Amino acid sequence: MADKCPSCGNHALNRISLAGGALDECEMCGELFGPADLVELAMLQREADELGASIESYPLARFLHDQPGVKVIADSNGDPVTGKLPFVSFALTDRRLDIVENLGKTLRLLRDNLECRWIIEYTFDFEPAFELHAARAVSNPKEQVDPARRDMSLIWRALRQYSGFGWWRRPSGRIEAPRR
Ligand SMILES: [Zn+2]
Repeated sequence: MADKCPSCGNHALNRISLAGGALDECEMCGELFGPADLVELAMLQREADELGASIESYPLARFLHDQPGVKVIADSNGDPVTGKLPFVSFALTDRRLDIVENLGKTLRLLRDNLECRWIIEYTFDFEPAFELHAARAVSNPKEQVDPARRDMSLIWRALRQYSGFGWWRRPSGRIEAPRR
């Protein structure tokens, strides 16, 4: 890692641990530097903070919302006081399950790296939807909130990486099916 800011030359840097890695933030100018995906994640978290959104769930919600056929309904960082766990819920606007399969495979691949067990739950409120959330532990759900928040950053990082891989399912062509 650098010992001074490549942008302004200042030597006072803050080391930030994030999603299993680390990056540096310049105390003087706020420049972030380190692995490209972690810089992107830290920028998304800043954006969340400025919007008053939830820092850990916002990047994940943004990623899902940017996928074809996916509409994010709600997301939350959870609440350590009440023990409400972090989640992202989303609907499928074209009823294709590609993103659910991609997400399921990502969680399977990440299984040994995550602190919580994660579930993709089918829900129905006003419309069919899915909710990605940490499984609630029988005892002390309040103590699960922070690990689940850390997991969300890891999941974001994995999704960003895996979405470039060959096995990632993409709606091909995006051509409207003929109406019957
Ligand atoms: Zn700087």
